[in-house]
Amino acid sequence: MRKKLLDILACPVCKGDLRLEVKEENEEEVLEGFLICDNCNERYPIEEGIPNLLPPELRDKL
Ligand SMILES: [Zn+2]
Repeated sequence: MRKKLLDILACPVCKGDLRLEVKEENEEEVLEGFLICDNCNERYPIEEGIPNLLPPELRDKL
């Protein structure tokens, strides 16, 4: 995902702002990392450039 996306993404649980933690990136995109909500202490994984913003309880069911 492009870092600019962070401006429009919000935590699906509390609608709070998300913080980006980058593990791997190229010139354009974050490939691996986490979107972190400090408000409810939730972490959303970014895998292969795709942010997974499903709430944790849904994520486990799929
Ligand atoms: Zn939150």
